[in-house]
This record gives sequence, structure tokens and C-alpha cells, in this order.
Amino acid sequence: MACRDTVHLTCWYLEGKLSPSVECEIEWHLNRCRDCRLILEAATKSLDQHVGTVRAARYRVRYGN
Ligand SMILES: [Zn+2]
Repeated sequence: MACRDTVHLTCWYLEGKLSPSVECEIEWHLNRCRDCRLILEAATKSLDQHVGTVRAARYRVRYGN
């Protein structure tokens, strides 16, 4: 798998939407490619923030303030 493909699939990988065989290919690549690991790390952080925001919004709707 090329770096380009790995980066392209990173979001889906983090959300667990890929088939196990594709996940394997991504992990194989990540084990060997520092650049893509860094990108995955950054994506993980931004996803955390995004999920945190969504959770906070839901919390406000349900419980007020
Ligand atoms: Zn790569």
C-alpha cells in the first residue's frame, strides 16, 4: 500500500470502518513508515477533539448547559 492510500484511509481506519484485510495492510505500512505514523497520530488527536465536541454538544442538548 502506498503512503497516499494509507493517508486516504486513515479516517476510516480510526473509525473502524475498514475490512480486516485492509486494516492489516494499513498496520503493515504503519509499522514501516514513520511519516504515515505521524499523520495517523495527528489524525487521532483531531478525531479525539471532534468526538469530544460532538459529545459535549449531545450532553448540552440532553442535560442543558
Ligand atoms: Zn507511508
